[in-house]
Amino acid sequence: MSILRFSAIKESHNRAPIAIEEKGRRSDLFGRNVFNEKKMLQYLTKDALESVKGAIFSGSKIDRKMADQVAEAIKGWAISMGATHYTHWFQPLTGSTAEKHDAFFDLLPDGTALEKFGGGQLVQQEPDASSFPSGGIRNTFEARGYTAWDPTSPAFIYGTTLCIPTIFVSYTGEALDNKAPLLRALSAVDESATAVAKYFDKNVSKVNATLGWEQEYFLIDKALAHSRPDIILTGRTLVGNTAAKGQQLDDHYFGVIPSRVLSFMSDLEKECTKLGIPVKTRHNEVAPNQFELAPVFEEANLAVDHNLLLMDVMDKMADKHGFKVLFHEKPFEGVNGSGKHNNWSLATDTGVNLLSPGSTPMKNLQFLTFFINTIKAVDTYEELLRSSIASASNDHRLGANEAPPAIFSIFIGSQLSSVLDELEGVSQGKLSPEEKTELKLNVVGKIPEILLDNTDRNRTSPFAFTGNKFEMRGVGAKTNCAKPMTILNTIVAKQLKDFKKEVDSLIDKKNLKKDEAIFNVLREYIKTSKRIRFDGDGYSKDWENEAKKRKLSHNRNTPDALNILTAKQSLSLLKEMKVLSEVEIAARQEVELEAYILHLQIEGRVYNELVYGYIMPAALAYQNKLITNVSGLKEIYGAAHKKFSEGQLTMIEEIAEHVVSIKKETDDMTEARKKANTMTDTKKKAMSYCNDVLPYFNEIRQHCDKLERLVDDQLWPLTKYRELLFIK
Ligand code: ADP
Ligand code: MG
Repeated sequence: MSILRFSAIKESHNRAPIAIEEKGRRSDLFGRNVFNEKKMLQYLTKDALESVKGAIFSGSKIDRKMADQVAEAIKGWAISMGATHYTHWFQPLTGSTAEKHDAFFDLLPDGTALEKFGGGQLVQQEPDASSFPSGGIRNTFEARGYTAWDPTSPAFIYGTTLCIPTIFVSYTGEALDNKAPLLRALSAVDESATAVAKYFDKNVSKVNATLGWEQEYFLIDKALAHSRPDIILTGRTLVGNTAAKGQQLDDHYFGVIPSRVLSFMSDLEKECTKLGIPVKTRHNEVAPNQFELAPVFEEANLAVDHNLLLMDVMDKMADKHGFKVLFHEKPFEGVNGSGKHNNWSLATDTGVNLLSPGSTPMKNLQFLTFFINTIKAVDTYEELLRSSIASASNDHRLGANEAPPAIFSIFIGSQLSSVLDELEGVSQGKLSPEEKTELKLNVVGKIPEILLDNTDRNRTSPFAFTGNKFEMRGVGAKTNCAKPMTILNTIVAKQLKDFKKEVDSLIDKKNLKKDEAIFNVLREYIKTSKRIRFDGDGYSKDWENEAKKRKLSHNRNTPDALNILTAKQSLSLLKEMKVLSEVEIAARQEVELEAYILHLQIEGRVYNELVYGYIMPAALAYQNKLITNVSGLKEIYGAAHKKFSEGQLTMIEEIAEHVVSIKKETDDMTEARKKANTMTDTKKKAMSYCNDVLPYFNEIRQHCDKLERLVDDQLWPLTKYRELLFIK
């Protein structure tokens, strides 16, 4: 056994849980490090408070004088909390978050020191952005980008730094991040959904998209993780023979949480609570060492920020507890990967969840309106929605018969299916009083207020209605939720806008009553969006064939999935809803493709390192041992040695064959990479990585894993699954 592997295992076995002193109630800690409404009341003048609230609720601008006041107040609070630095916290297209810290401390020309932080620093900052991906935007337009304050997500203190959530845009206004388009999409869905919600309640003046994510992750002992170059450099194991025991006994799911992990979780939750992240549930997941954490849902922009912050906090907290946290979607073969379900709904400022059925037919008509419009939106834009969760690492889940398939479909359950079937039968145009009564009482009125128990039975569906919200299940564990949330809210915004137009036109031109008009339009939507509804097994081959007949897209890999971004339909949608311009879309596609290429490039290099530096040497060392053994037997027994050495001779051959194969495949893979690297067209290069390079990975892996089974454990250099996957 390599010294590295041996000492890592020893270190991991000696690690004890960190003792946690659990003092005080969680609710007392909640939001302690956040400049939330309570603190605003305390620190802001009345005018400044009004100004910030205006920005939050109606998107009004905060003028410079007010910004100065707000900055002064935030500074006062932050310094009283022990903060020494501030940073604009933003979400570049790399998928994670970025920050550049500046000290409050400043010097006046006369040399006196003071703590400085004004409106200017609060509202805008100019990070040296040249190293963030821009998909060519900065080259074409302006060399610089700047970050701008997003007052809808409150500032918070992390460590000793005041973090100000910001968007990141170029000087010509193009979004260079994931937050700016999300805010635009949320504003679009607010506008469209509010207009439609007013059909049912005139008092509605704002609709917020809500998001409740469920974050899955793996925890690996830190020393063990560091003993594997693949985990450190790619976030996953590129090789590794499946342990004899994996998840087949189902003994991990909802099982007892190991004490080391529990102590990590307690610390993590405490930190999250202070940061205002409303974490609520924690449990083991299906795979060994896999866990999940979910908060109470929040307004989508805040929920996105909180998820990104959580991932960062987790990373640091794991390190403190001697763990490495893995967000990769498929860190281990043979056990489940990790996703991040996105639970989504729409909520009015009057406190109504628009996807929750109610106790009266009118409330249910409202529910049906938003429910059916969402189905219609997903049907029209299923391929675009699929593209929003595409990444090299998520390709391991989507389309690999694990988690939901890469084909988008919607599960609504039998109860709601029959309601939609009945609605579909409603006659066109004006309804007789009898028809109306029948409809209201026996169709719409039949929807029970609580649907929760009747749905959510189908875990293979990528987009399931779960009683009072839709759950998007294909989102990758690593993915920034802003991406799928931007697309989902945009397509629903567009759909609701079209719906309103159609209903209004029936009212105006055909003289229909409001509810009649709504029924008429909904009925057509039910008819035209049928293909997206599917309640069966999303993993089955039958569904794949059926989906093809229904002309649903099936993009198994990222380069294919990203094509739709620049299709005419996507460009005009995103432009019409003012979410992304053509330039921004092209830039995003370029950035995503580049990320895909880089990802595979790194994995390819690591394969090379593993094969030449670890696996072949170990295999050859063991082969030498066998050869020595056979020679010895020959010396003792002469020609009769075969009686004792047959097994060894076969093993010598088997090892030789695998070594020849991995060497050849690794060299061929490197050649394929070199060829791909010469391509200048990003799309072609990504396709080449996908079709010409990637297939080698699995081939190489097969041989490596076979060798792991053949070679003496004492000689095997890489920490094995059995050692990695079972935290004591
Ligand atoms: P589970 O799916 O584990 O059975 P729930 O259905 O209660 O549990 O909730 C799962 C997730 O859905 C949680 O993160 C929760 O915050 C979120 N959620 C619940 N209601 C909504 C809603 N109206 N909008 C968005 N997310 C929601
Ligand atoms: Mg769920």
